[in-house]
Amino acid sequence: MHDESVTDFDADQHDETLSALPQTGEREVETTLRPRKLAEFVGQPRVREQLELVLESARRRGVPPDHVLLSGPPGLGKTSLAMIIAEELDASIRITSGPALERAGDLAAMLSNLAEGDVLFIDEIHRIARPAEEMLYLAMEDFRVDVVVGKGPGATSIPLEIAPFTLVGATTRSGALTGPLRDRFGFTGQMEFYGDDELDLVVTRAATILGIAIDPEGSAEIARRSRGTPRIANRLLRRVRDYAEVRADGRITLEVTRAALEVYDVDELGLDRLDRAVLSALVNSFGGGPVGVSTLAVAVGEEPTTVEEVCEPYLVRAGMLARTPRGRVATATAWEHLGLRPPADYGRSEQSSLFD
Ligand code: ADP
Repeated sequence: MHDESVTDFDADQHDETLSALPQTGEREVETTLRPRKLAEFVGQPRVREQLELVLESARRRGVPPDHVLLSGPPGLGKTSLAMIIAEELDASIRITSGPALERAGDLAAMLSNLAEGDVLFIDEIHRIARPAEEMLYLAMEDFRVDVVVGKGPGATSIPLEIAPFTLVGATTRSGALTGPLRDRFGFTGQMEFYGDDELDLVVTRAATILGIAIDPEGSAEIARRSRGTPRIANRLLRRVRDYAEVRADGRITLEVTRAALEVYDVDELGLDRLDRAVLSALVNSFGGGPVGVSTLAVAVGEEPTTVEEVCEPYLVRAGMLARTPRGRVATATAWEHLGLRPPADYGRSEQSSLFD
């Protein structure tokens, strides 16, 4: 059976109630809601089809598949897919994360414990420390690690065979991966934000599993306001369920959903407090930009990486923010969403070409 050993999983302490980042205590629910098979995995038709081919071909040849890199914003299903890969291959999965692999020895221990055909999942692989990364090169290519014993001139390196395995790496920033690491993955799946219909399926499926009574209009509304992200869809569902149980008769209707999302500060477009803070700082403090991401992050009291990896991808997709070489720029849509009018010449200046 599967050994889903979670080693030093970097529990995110991010406190935005409804953000796309996982929260402490949530992993249990996520485990219940995680799709187990590729066929249960909603959406991402391209990645799914590509992955199906990679897995099927490996299965036929009787070898572990090539190493897989999954890239995309948080909450889109990278961990779920890694687990599905193991399940589809009838293999065990070992889970760790880039920040947990601080020393090469940590990785060596993990690698030498793998059995043939195991899946090793490294979340946030772009944050892996350099010595561990270098060890990974040889492991990925030749299923071998060089363990250095001793220090200074007397140090010797002992080659150690490891069982052929499949590495599944996940990253929110594929651009931050070094070339040599990226090149060693045989397949990269680029995860996209989900469409409303797909999220509707995610919500209905989760409601069935959790035994929540929900109207089609309720699930459609939750889906529409989930920032294209299944993790948020599942989280909103649970918050709306709370509201339905406490302030209504337990059933999630359109009316209940709207009232609940108002309480939780999720706006008409699904933007949360942090999204709106970013837009508002951009527009009110920097005249719409361009402004550097670090300055913007300081203005909203967040880490630049959170602004960059959690907020921005969706704001860009929603057509509210543009990333330019000179910094971040708010689009006219962003001004309007905040109930403001962009200045008369807005969009006619250097920014105009960005909005076409
Ligand atoms: P990531 O690793 O990209 O941050 P996860 O795989 O942890 O995302 O997904 C977060 C949660 O969202 C999971 O627990 C799962 O319930 C749900 N989820 C993600 N993708 C899907 C999907 N395609 N279909 C159904 N549920 C999904």
